[in-house]
Amino acid sequence: MSDNVLLEVKNLKKYFDTPRGMLHAVDDVSFQLKEGQTLGVVGESGCGKSTLGRTILHLLPSTSGQIFFEGKDITFAKGKELLKLRRQMQIIFQDPFSSLDPKMTVSQIIEEPLKIHKIYKNKKERMERVYELMEIIGLDARYVNTYPHELDGGRRQRIGIARALALNPKFIVCDEPVSALDVSIQAQILNLMMDLKDEFGLTYIFVTHNLSVVKHISDEILVLYLGKMVEKTTADRLFENPLHPYTKALLSSIPIPDISYKGKEAEVMKGELSSPIEPKDCCRFAPRCPMAKDCCFTSSPEFVEAEENHFVACHLVEKK
Ligand code: SF4
Repeated sequence: MSDNVLLEVKNLKKYFDTPRGMLHAVDDVSFQLKEGQTLGVVGESGCGKSTLGRTILHLLPSTSGQIFFEGKDITFAKGKELLKLRRQMQIIFQDPFSSLDPKMTVSQIIEEPLKIHKIYKNKKERMERVYELMEIIGLDARYVNTYPHELDGGRRQRIGIARALALNPKFIVCDEPVSALDVSIQAQILNLMMDLKDEFGLTYIFVTHNLSVVKHISDEILVLYLGKMVEKTTADRLFENPLHPYTKALLSSIPIPDISYKGKEAEVMKGELSSPIEPKDCCRFAPRCPMAKDCCFTSSPEFVEAEENHFVACHLVEKK
């Protein structure tokens, strides 16, 4: 694994103007991601994790902050520079059915980015690459002329992965790539993604609401709550010693597949979700936090290093 930082995000914000005010979807997010590593980004629906991935990829314009790729500031990349970046930075979407054009065959879908970026001289060369990609992602060549609706969810997601790999990217945002799949297929797709990462030296941001999925694929995990970073550390440390009350509640809600298990009961989060629209200066988790004190409702906790490479935003956790 390389020590080179491939991606750096500094104080990134993405706000949406709504009739009720500014919605703070991503609020002051900063991190570095080294080449060949996977950062899991977790949180409930609406925490801003997918918006973060899409803003980094310039599928959404950022409100403020900076994005660096291979040391270069790409925050305002556009035109030819953005087209070049698209070859390096790709996305795998959650729902392989709605993200694939139903009128296109498997070969047309995989060939499309090769055509747009004019990588190969002619159709013959492009088709050689299509067959090569189908082999890489474990999809039999006989499916080359089938349509997405003729395939099961696992095969459709393999096509989504092939399309993302087509241009030999360095970095892929995986946006809930297994959430829409049957549990039996999820492990196959996750294993495929881990194999591809090793084979091609890929760097991933893996966005998911499912902590049990992210543990096995991530080097580090970032927990988001209503657009704010609340905890970030290595995957092992997060599972061994979560420090933020929200992370603890998320971890306790992971189902344990053993009916005889008599251990600790899951912590059910009570209280109302605060609004991400024009949020007050306070801890956004305070209305649901069992540990909340008065100060939690009047000031925002800083994101501090509580122990080596373990960052937390909570008034109860001290800086090391
Ligand atoms: Fe809970 Fe307060 Fe910590 Fe927020 S700052 S997580 S409300 S204890």
